[in-house]
Amino acid sequence: MSAPPVLEVRGLTKRFRGLVALDGVDFAVPEGAICGLIGPNGAGKSTLFNLVTGFLPPSEGEIRFRGAPVTGWSPQQAGRSGIARAFQIARPFPGLTVRQNVRIGALFGRSGPRDVEGATDSALALLGIEDLADRPAEGLTVGHLRRLEVARALAARPLLLLADEPCAGLNPAETDAMIAALRRIRDGGVTIWLVEHDMRAVMGVCDRILVIAAGRAIAEGTPGEVAADPAVIAAYLGA
Ligand code: ADP
Ligand code: MG
Repeated sequence: MSAPPVLEVRGLTKRFRGLVALDGVDFAVPEGAICGLIGPNGAGKSTLFNLVTGFLPPSEGEIRFRGAPVTGWSPQQAGRSGIARAFQIARPFPGLTVRQNVRIGALFGRSGPRDVEGATDSALALLGIEDLADRPAEGLTVGHLRRLEVARALAARPLLLLADEPCAGLNPAETDAMIAALRRIRDGGVTIWLVEHDMRAVMGVCDRILVIAAGRAIAEGTPGEVAADPAVIAAYLGA
């Protein structure tokens, strides 16, 4: 029997008062894949990640992690079970160093207490920010801040990393470096689900992509399938 998907969502729906932010979304993230989640602003991408990581309860639908139902779990349970999230808006503790911020990720993840320093060092190295380890998190460039945020999530030694726009605000060279880091993270055994607006980056790195617009799944498939889908083209051109 083949392994269940690392993550599966079925009929996932989230209503905020009158607004339906997510409407019956289905998707499966296979183990070892880099999957993409794309869609226009306000489509519901961050909300989907909020539901999966237990930051918000779904209104309807089901979430399964490694085959087991986890709908309604807490962020702490999600973190200890192996889901880590790099936030769209990184908010490191400004008074702490880069290393101290990354270590916080290790403390709240799957790493036991004995592994905290090892997990911290390996996350700093994977993101190429060892040289910045002793600098204050305050005053980092956007590029370094994004890498710190992914390193903090990675230090939890997750099985699944949800990365919410890790390339936002990066120039093309920095974007390429981040995508290369995500590939290294995946090659190290971490499944990834990525929100990203840079189509070149998304199409180049993802195995499968879910496209949502106004809370609904409008397409799903390989990058080639999704890019050729008339519904996707219409959503992006506003047709
Ligand atoms: P995306 O990440 O795709 O840009 P979001 O998931 O952030 O979109 O938002 C989807 C919709 O849900 C938007 O209309 C947004 O204003 C709304 N929304 C998101 N979070 C909340 C919340 N906590 N309360 C009320 N509305 C929300
Ligand atoms: Mg968002």
